[in-house]
Amino acid sequence: RLEIRNLMRSFGGRRVVDDVSLSVMPGQVTCLLGPSGCGKSTTLRMIAGIETQESGSIFVDGEMICDGKYRVPPEGRGIGLMFQDFALFPHLSVAGNVAYGLKGRASKNRARVEELLGKVGMLSHIDNYPHELSGGEQQRVALARALAPRPRIMLMDEPFSGLDDRLRDDIRDETLDVLKAEGTAVLLVTHEPGEAMRMADEIALMRNGKIVQRGAPYNIYNTPVDKEAAGFFSDIN
Ligand code: ATP
Ligand code: MG
Repeated sequence: RLEIRNLMRSFGGRRVVDDVSLSVMPGQVTCLLGPSGCGKSTTLRMIAGIETQESGSIFVDGEMICDGKYRVPPEGRGIGLMFQDFALFPHLSVAGNVAYGLKGRASKNRARVEELLGKVGMLSHIDNYPHELSGGEQQRVALARALAPRPRIMLMDEPFSGLDDRLRDDIRDETLDVLKAEGTAVLLVTHEPGEAMRMADEIALMRNGKIVQRGAPYNIYNTPVDKEAAGFFSDIN
């Protein structure tokens, strides 16, 4: 379970993340949805620990991992990352990429790698190299790699934006299935209302650094908080 409270961050005197609070339960997907520049990626980077907040605190399974003074480093947070440009290591095979973040015995790691590649439908490509895979296949391997160390939380920043339309729908559905089966709490950033409607258990609508509305997708769609929110959802594809 991920919980963030009152996160704040400014750049050059401009507040880009303004008092953001939200929580994500295990096995649930919360979509942080909003227009370009509203502060989504900055929020995710603070949770990951690759950006520092001015104030506010972050909890994973009730344990505080960051406030003003105390900071657990990114690798100690139990958080997995999947970003749009999160490329595979070109010099490592599929198996090598997925095993990359794993510590411990090789035989045990191999079992985990095979389990995950099975889940994402890439077991038959275990010995291939990234340049031998299509974009969608690389995406599946990247998902397996992010999940290999069993992160309690997964942060995803527009992870499907490099894919063509039909492939994207398939990969979205597969990704959801795998994440739900693993019981991971997912915070997914997108600027596409259609993607949020399709993937989210809960949507947090963000604008100018603030969360302006939170709720189940159909609630936000049917009862937008204001005209701007309604307009944002009107051109859904
Ligand atoms: P997009 O949908 O385009 O990815 P976003 O919601 O992810 O947008 P952020 O990347 O969080 O937006 O950026 C929010 C604002 O903060 C933007 O105006 C951006 O220019 C600014 N910003 C982000 N990082 C920095 C930085 N390191 N230095 C200065 N300004 C920054
Ligand atoms: Mg962004």
